[in-house]
Amino acid sequence: MVATLEQIESWGVVGAGGAGFPTHVKLKSSAEIMILNAAECEPLLHKDKELLRRYGDEVLAGLDAARQLVGASEAVVGIKGKYTDVIEALTPKLPAGMRIQALTDTYPAGDEFVLVYDVTGRVIPPGKIPLAVGAAVINVETALNIAQSAPVTTKFLTIAGAVHNPVTIHVPVGITFGEAVELAGGATVDAPVALIGGAMMGSFCDDFSGPITKTTGGMIVLGRDHPLVHRYTLPWSAIKTIGASACDQCNFCTYYCPRYLLGHPIEPHKAMRSLGFNEVGEPNVLGTQFCCECNLCSMMACPEDLDPKNVCTVNKRELASEGRKWEVEADEVRADMHLSNRRVPIQRLILKLGLKQFTNEGPLRENGYQPTQVVLPLKQHAGAPAVATVAVGDPVKVGDVIARPATGALGAVIHASMDGRVTDVSDSVTIGN
Ligand code: SF4
Ligand code: SF4
Repeated sequence: MVATLEQIESWGVVGAGGAGFPTHVKLKSSAEIMILNAAECEPLLHKDKELLRRYGDEVLAGLDAARQLVGASEAVVGIKGKYTDVIEALTPKLPAGMRIQALTDTYPAGDEFVLVYDVTGRVIPPGKIPLAVGAAVINVETALNIAQSAPVTTKFLTIAGAVHNPVTIHVPVGITFGEAVELAGGATVDAPVALIGGAMMGSFCDDFSGPITKTTGGMIVLGRDHPLVHRYTLPWSAIKTIGASACDQCNFCTYYCPRYLLGHPIEPHKAMRSLGFNEVGEPNVLGTQFCCECNLCSMMACPEDLDPKNVCTVNKRELASEGRKWEVEADEVRADMHLSNRRVPIQRLILKLGLKQFTNEGPLRENGYQPTQVVLPLKQHAGAPAVATVAVGDPVKVGDVIARPATGALGAVIHASMDGRVTDVSDSVTIGN
């Protein structure tokens, strides 16, 4: 029987691959085509492929349930063509109305706009969502969570980079980054740091006491002397000053930009040019509002290692805070004829990022890890923080509700991920033995 929206809401299912948009809200919509985003293009991360290898039946069942809920006539698994073993294993299992679309081994193949274009040939207009072209997109782990018909209390994530045993682990939500690194055999460097979520779109972390949430897809562990650490920790004042003086307006950042190549009016070199006039946020760079923060312009395109991505995102946030928007007519948008020539192969990207020395695999190992404490942030989804429904001292069991969205607020239910007693309630709920 297909799960209902009410059940999916009660299980606290959110988009497991990024912002954590509540899945029951997404699936209230109508779409012609439901796409499974199995592109997973962040270098060294392997969670989605591993889930499709181990839980292929369940993921396809979750995808089919999502397809039926939005009323789509077709469902498509978007996965890189190089994963021939996964494609061969899934093909005989595909139900009626479902197909596989083989994708190129490039970055950012998993960007929703790129994925929808590759699967449907339709360009999502700037500032819109996939539904604008009749598509809905869900992540592999989200489909699995729908199929498992139970509260979301665990998380899959790849631990890669400077660790002894790169691995995809399955752990209770709320364990620490440090525990996750230990499950990968520990770091191979002293005083490690990490990029949480990936080398391209992750966030820098040098405190491993923070918790794994429902949206943590992976960790790239690094030594403090790795060049990416310098890139991620450069202060805005330096980004701005160096950018203003060193950008030679070669336009490579724009020519590589996947959104520009889809025909969106974003040209990061213009945002860089604006630095010279102290014009971040001025009308000539309105297009930065369409930046998806993929980081390709900074990490791959710029021959001078400047940071147009951060210039665009600072600009974008200023525009948003001022309430300024650029409405683009859909019929003005056409993919660039050079789009397919300018896709960036993952192997080139790995080389450029300085990740070549790391093992590029992450086999799934499920060892039933039992923590002695979990910390469950009340905000680990898009929308407003959930409101705790438990108090210090309350006993809880795995799967018990510990927080719910406020009435009428966008959000997701949060459940206990271990048996124990509540030891703290603040902006998180802590459970200990
Ligand atoms: S981060 Fe750079 S390449 Fe990516 S969308 Fe933004 S401007 Fe384009
Ligand atoms: S690629 Fe680098 S140097 Fe060239 S325009 Fe963009 S920011 Fe400037």
